[in-house]
Amino acid sequence: MQSNNYAIIISGPSGVGKGTIIKMIKEKHHIPISVSHTTRKPRHGEKEGLDYYFVSKDDFFSLVDSNKFIEWEKVHDNYYGTHILNIEKASSANLLFEVDVKGALNLIDKAKLSNASVISVFLDAPSKDELINRLKFRGTETEESISIRMRTAEEELSQKKRFDYIVVNDTISSAFSKIEEILKYKGVLHD
Ligand code: 5GP
Repeated sequence: MQSNNYAIIISGPSGVGKGTIIKMIKEKHHIPISVSHTTRKPRHGEKEGLDYYFVSKDDFFSLVDSNKFIEWEKVHDNYYGTHILNIEKASSANLLFEVDVKGALNLIDKAKLSNASVISVFLDAPSKDELINRLKFRGTETEESISIRMRTAEEELSQKKRFDYIVVNDTISSAFSKIEEILKYKGVLHD
């Protein structure tokens, strides 16, 4: 029996604006975000337990060994994982997930096995040039990391048809409205 709560998965290439959109959904509609574990160092302003659980590689892999992640991936030289408890939480309340494309596809499959209902959205960039601009504008990436992220993006774009919805992030406000429409249609949000 499927519940009326959803694991709402927002994915897409790095730099496409997933983080911004997901924070807007959280703030306006009070849907919590699944906090992942990562071995990446915190960026300026990021907070432990709010943006991520920042852990050492050793701690990350002891969680992997004890099967505590429903999915985990190496993304651009760092490890990221979604704790199994978060998919359990999504069967009793709506929960937002911001994960890379491989992780999202993994999460979609595993959620089905655990009977959690899923809404999956691929956030697409209007163009490749725009994606590069956004990564540069963010100012947190080196030239090398931008080119690694672009190579990954090519692979990720080829997977977009496996998502329930594809939303082009041409402007943040229009992409946000489109996602609100999807969530209304699925009964997560009400007029
Ligand atoms: P960032 O380092 O910019 O915060 O995130 C890098 C990438 O890792 C983003 O595409 C983000 O969506 C992804 N990511 C964050 N948490 C997880 C997770 O738990 N699992 C997976 N597979 N990817 C994640």
